[in-house]
Amino acid sequence: MTLKQSKIVKITIALLIISSVFYLLVSIFISSRKQAQAAEGRTIQGNCSVRAIKENGPFSDKIDILFVGISYDSDADVERDARMLLYSPNGFFSEEPFKSYESRFNIWAFNFIGAPDTTMNVQSALATLHTSIIFPQADHKVFMFPKDDFRPFAIPVLNLVYLSFPFMGVFTEDLPRIIVHELGHSIGSIKDEYVEKALGDRPGRPNCARSESQARSWWGSYENQGEGKLKVGYYVGCSYVENNIRPTENSVMNDPYCVLSAPDYDVCDYYGFGIINANKLKEVIESSTK
Ligand SMILES: [Zn+2]
Repeated sequence: MTLKQSKIVKITIALLIISSVFYLLVSIFISSRKQAQAAEGRTIQGNCSVRAIKENGPFSDKIDILFVGISYDSDADVERDARMLLYSPNGFFSEEPFKSYESRFNIWAFNFIGAPDTTMNVQSALATLHTSIIFPQADHKVFMFPKDDFRPFAIPVLNLVYLSFPFMGVFTEDLPRIIVHELGHSIGSIKDEYVEKALGDRPGRPNCARSESQARSWWGSYENQGEGKLKVGYYVGCSYVENNIRPTENSVMNDPYCVLSAPDYDVCDYYGFGIINANKLKEVIESSTK
C-alpha cells in the first residue's frame, strides 16, 4: 500500500467512524423523541394518534383504558363503539363502583390497521396481538373486533379484554353489559361465578372459595349484607365447577346480561357486582389512582 493509499484508507475509516457516530446520535435522538412522544401518550407505533375519549388527569394518577379497534373503517367508528360500551345506560360507567369513580379513569381509543388476520386462526392472532400495541401507559387494553365472531373473554394477568361485535350482535340494551363483566375480570381479577366444566377449576380471591369454610373466612363478616340476589351468603358453583363457593346468588360476574328494563331479557332483581366484588374493585381503584 502506498502512502497515498494508506492516507485514503485512514480518511475513509475516519469518515466511517464520524458517520457511525452521527447515525448513532441521530438514532438516539429519534428514539428518545419517540419515547417522549409515547410518554406524552399521544403517539402509538407508526405515528398513529391515540384519541382521548376522556382524560381526567396524568397517567400515573389514573387507570388508563385503551380501546383498540381492529381494522375499523375509521377512528370515529372505534370511538363510537367505545363510547357505547362505556356511557350507554347499561354501560361500564353505569355500574358501581365504576360510576362513583368515573373521574379516576382515562379513556383512549386507537384504530389498529394491519392487525393480524383473525379469519383463519383467531387464537394465534389474539395471542400475539397485545404485544403489537405499544402504549405502555395503558393499564388495560380492550380489543374490539367488528368483523370476527368469537366469545368475548378477558386475560386478567395481562389486563386484556377481547370483544367480538358479531358475537355481541346488533346494538341492544344488554350489549354494554359485557364490558362491565370483562373489565371486572381485568381490573379486579374477579372470577366468573358460573359453572362450565370445560373451563377447568379455577377458584381464587375475592369471590370463588374452594370450600364453605374458606368462603366464611373470606367474606363471613359481610354475611346477609345486600339485597335480593345480591345478598351475601354461600352459594355453590363458581369459576367453573359446582364445588366452589360464590358470595351471591347472582351478579354481573354470573349473568351480565340481566338488565332491569330490557324487554327481551329476564327482568331480574339484582343489578351489580355485589359487595364482595365491588369492594375488591374499590380497593384496586383507590390504591392505584387519585
Ligand atoms: Zn367472565
